[in-house]
Amino acid sequence: MQTKVARLAKISVTGVVQGVGFRPFVYRLAHEHNLWGWVRNTSGNVEIEVEGDEETFENFIADLETKAPPIAHIERIETAFYPLKGYTEFKIHQSLSLEGEYQLVSPDIATCEDCKKEIFCPTDRRFGYPFTNCTNCGPRFTIIEDIPYDRLKTTMRKFKMCPECQQEYDDPLDRRFHAQPNACLKCGPSLELVDGNGNPIDGNDPIKATSDLLKAGRVLALRGLGGFQLVCDATNEKAINLLRTRKRRPSKPLAVMVATLEDIEKHCLVSLEERKLLQSPQCPIVLLRWKHNSSNISPAVAPNINYLGVMLPYTPLHHLLLKETDMPLVMTSGNLSEEPIAKDNEEAVIRLSGIADCFLFHNRDIFARYDDSVYMVENTPQAIRRARGYAPYPIFLPFKSKQILACGAELNNTFCLTKDEHAFLSQHIGDMENEETLEHFENSVELYKKLFRIEPEIVAYDMHPEYLSTKYALDAGSEQGLSLVPVQHHHAHIVSCLVDNKVEGPVIGVAFDGTGYGTDGNIWGGEFLLADWRSFQRVGHLEYVPLLGGVAAIKKPYRMSLSYLYTLLGEDFLLEDLPIRKLDLDELELIKQQLKRGVNSPLTSSAGRLFDAISALVGVRQEIDYEAQAVIELEMLAPNEWNELGLKAYPFSIVEHQGVRVVKLGELFNTVVQDVRNQTPIPSISLKFHNTVAQMIIEMCKLITNQTSINQVVLSGGVFQNRLLLKLATTTLQREGFSVLTHHSVPCNDGGISLGQAVIANFALR
Ligand SMILES: [Zn+2]
Ligand SMILES: [Zn+2]
Ligand SMILES: [Zn+2]
Repeated sequence: MQTKVARLAKISVTGVVQGVGFRPFVYRLAHEHNLWGWVRNTSGNVEIEVEGDEETFENFIADLETKAPPIAHIERIETAFYPLKGYTEFKIHQSLSLEGEYQLVSPDIATCEDCKKEIFCPTDRRFGYPFTNCTNCGPRFTIIEDIPYDRLKTTMRKFKMCPECQQEYDDPLDRRFHAQPNACLKCGPSLELVDGNGNPIDGNDPIKATSDLLKAGRVLALRGLGGFQLVCDATNEKAINLLRTRKRRPSKPLAVMVATLEDIEKHCLVSLEERKLLQSPQCPIVLLRWKHNSSNISPAVAPNINYLGVMLPYTPLHHLLLKETDMPLVMTSGNLSEEPIAKDNEEAVIRLSGIADCFLFHNRDIFARYDDSVYMVENTPQAIRRARGYAPYPIFLPFKSKQILACGAELNNTFCLTKDEHAFLSQHIGDMENEETLEHFENSVELYKKLFRIEPEIVAYDMHPEYLSTKYALDAGSEQGLSLVPVQHHHAHIVSCLVDNKVEGPVIGVAFDGTGYGTDGNIWGGEFLLADWRSFQRVGHLEYVPLLGGVAAIKKPYRMSLSYLYTLLGEDFLLEDLPIRKLDLDELELIKQQLKRGVNSPLTSSAGRLFDAISALVGVRQEIDYEAQAVIELEMLAPNEWNELGLKAYPFSIVEHQGVRVVKLGELFNTVVQDVRNQTPIPSISLKFHNTVAQMIIEMCKLITNQTSINQVVLSGGVFQNRLLLKLATTTLQREGFSVLTHHSVPCNDGGISLGQAVIANFALR
């Protein structure tokens, strides 16, 4: 029976509850329920003290959970009861900083509908104001320097609020109550248009002027939420090619921003799930099927690709600019290829002056770099790049973790810091191939350590001795006397997917990617593992061939074709009538010598390289200028629709060698060569080859299941960004009675590696 006796309840709420309008929500809720007391942020949680009877408490707590602001995320509510203190009103108290305690930090959130209405409403005081935000939207992670989240600890502290903004900020019933980045035209950040040398361009409407430049085919650098973006007219091939030449990015697909969902549908097919993702508060880039025939977006945006990376505007500045230009805009990261994005005005002029004709600056400083996130939907949404809108929100672990720093891999690097049941998987850092990216990595590690009060006791890293992330781990770990745990690359892939699905294993892990250092010193990448969080056993792989010339073979897929053909079909194999790159006798002789002696040619079982080899062999792509280009272009040529039952496969065989099964590829290459010689159309070869790889996975999984009775399969590794392969493998495995786990919030590419490393390291030292 419930009592009507009044008591004092201390309520602690943890989760993403700061910077998301949670205190005003509690304030309003307390008033609704006639509860007196107070609410405050601490660096560990949100604390509430209220007085009332048990029934009122129950309703109040139920409402806390069900009516919380849209971007809040409650992890836990704890309540304890005490004698009354006799409160007579409800107040919002000063934030309290607690030693060692930490708070989840909200990611930056796309402009909400209310703010959007205001910037387009001529009578509103924020009409046309590009930095409009409220407690439901706007910058968070990119401006926060420390917790608790208060204006003084953000880059907004240099702007003093005008009386009107201050009033909104102080009014618990206002949408902007304690909105830390609150600002308006009178008191907040502003825009400035400058030329390529950083000299101001006169005029009083920078957005209009920017729009005019874009319409004239110019390339602009715009200071966005988490760094600079390079912008040009997406319908203007000349402008796009100018951007490509200057950015040294000849053909890698560029993302496009389109004003509204209706406009996106003119260019792309959009499913229900994709629509939800596009319009979500995270507002990622979504890879959509491109309607080439009805879209006026230039093919130069993504040459030879059937998908377009599209996003909606996610800041008021983007909304205003898209409205003014009235055309789709290329919106890509403001960097030279491989470097991190520029974030400060002066830095941008130095680094991007050869790329951008003009710069659209603003003076709200960016503390953390933040790229746009990328998703694809194949049955369910899957992260390809996890950054804006998602990080630093943690991945929840189904166990309490030690404090660990996992340093990730090389390409698409992320790091991961763990504490309690939180895995703070960092935003996309980039390809760790230069000093600038390493510096960005180091600064970001320090920021996360500070924000989440983490002092790692263990450092986990990839076994590849040459990765910068490995070198960093070894240096930092030995300097600070931390335990060092090397983790095998493909084990980390499989565990990242297990954690993404909250499954412990053991499972059959199929890890298909480009490069990962193996325990035998070879380059793995077509792996079948029995794996769980703790350990793995390699039970199968694709046949080894030499990676001819190491990195050269990755950049030049025709070298992989030669490696497979000569290794599998004999060094007298004749290339003459094949559409593969014609080599002069010297290069050919050199390659044969390399093969014979194994000079600079480590063995590889990489699935990515197998795709590369087929792509070059059938004449699709001989050399690449971005990662996986040959694979992607081969996939794009496969017919879009097919009858699953009518699918054919090339022959291959599986042999067992010392307890490890190996997929032999000689018959496959032999038959593909015959098809090419018979002038079989490339789309048919492509589809048949994709199905063959799916069949390899199925046959191998059947053999492993027969031996182990494990019938849960994990598909991980960058090769599974290939939707055709993913679809074929998943549906066939399911038809054969396997349960299949694929990625969701964590990328299947190397962006997920650090999470897998952290979890494995946590159990390695038990
Ligand atoms: Zn808003
Ligand atoms: Zn103001
Ligand atoms: Zn990998």
